[in-house]
Amino acid sequence: MSRPVIARIHLDALAANLACVRRAAPGTRIWAVVKANAYGHGLQAACAGLADADGLALIEFDQAVRLRALGWQGPILMLEGAFDAADLRTARELRLSLVVHEPGQIEWLRHEDGAPLDVWVKLNTGMNRLGFAAEDWPRLLADLRAIPGVGAIGVMSHFADAETPGGADEAIGRFDAVVRGHEVAQSLANSAAILGVPRAHRDWVRPGIMLYGASPFADRSAADLGLRAAMSLHSALIAVRTVRAGEGVGYGALFVADAPTRVGIVACGYADGYPRIAPTGTPIAVDGIRTRTLGRVSMDMIAVDLGPVPQARVGSPVELWGASIDIDEVARCAGTIGYELMCGLAPRVPLQLLTG
Ligand SMILES: *Cc1c(COP(=O)(O)O)cnc(C)c1O
Repeated sequence: MSRPVIARIHLDALAANLACVRRAAPGTRIWAVVKANAYGHGLQAACAGLADADGLALIEFDQAVRLRALGWQGPILMLEGAFDAADLRTARELRLSLVVHEPGQIEWLRHEDGAPLDVWVKLNTGMNRLGFAAEDWPRLLADLRAIPGVGAIGVMSHFADAETPGGADEAIGRFDAVVRGHEVAQSLANSAAILGVPRAHRDWVRPGIMLYGASPFADRSAADLGLRAAMSLHSALIAVRTVRAGEGVGYGALFVADAPTRVGIVACGYADGYPRIAPTGTPIAVDGIRTRTLGRVSMDMIAVDLGPVPQARVGSPVELWGASIDIDEVARCAGTIGYELMCGLAPRVPLQLLTG
């Protein structure tokens, strides 16, 4: 028998979450963001579940090659653009659109010949990570228009704070101050801005996390937002024991029973991508019933409290996160966000694509 840990990818949830983006940002086109192996869900699932997107956006060139091999024929946007001059050849062969955020990337374009590449100029509006100064926009536009290797030009930015009310106002102001009046496609909104900043929707939106059914906000759950978990992480109990009062469980005995306690051992640990730092009390479901983890998460196992699940036996099904356990809640217990847990799903966990 194979180890029971498995990540189920719900293609209908991906499609429903994409429909949710359409309702939230009507009339815009959608770059579905599939970087980091579609936030851990796999590119095959992304191609199937997000087939109605207008384009796919990611970072990794080898994964763009995979998207074409999987049959995705629509636009692909490389969110960090080319990493070296050779990437331009790949971009031309695969018809990739490139973000341009750095002067060197423009130099590579200048020295290219062949079919023109579509580019999106990235402006820095306050994140201070990638992008040109907003004031440089008119000059950049003129420069790029003069390069034969450049096709259609768009302009974009990424918010440092679209999560808090008014948090994106200054960035939008900086962007509009330079871009207003230019007839080029615009793109600003990530998931948080799609849901919370309608005036940032513009021509193309760039949802990531909401497609996968987690919340971009600390204080609003995915369910509240009408999103469905696209990934559920499952395993099973591989041992059950009763520990006496005063006995510890797991490395370092971080949990000590204060009464006789039935404990289940789940085949899932940090080597599967479950956060080691998740403390006693992190929610987990056994046999469909919500209970809590006990003690230290180890590499391949987690202990759980079977108090609320007296019927649990070896083989009882466990949900680590998914429809009954909100990934954002597990993330909060571990001091992180749902994004990190999804992306951190380990390669040894098989992905099972489900249509229903
Ligand atoms: C990752 C990314 C997104 C998606 O962000 P979410 O918060 O997951 O919606 C959008 N735009 C850019 C440039 C990104 O890198």
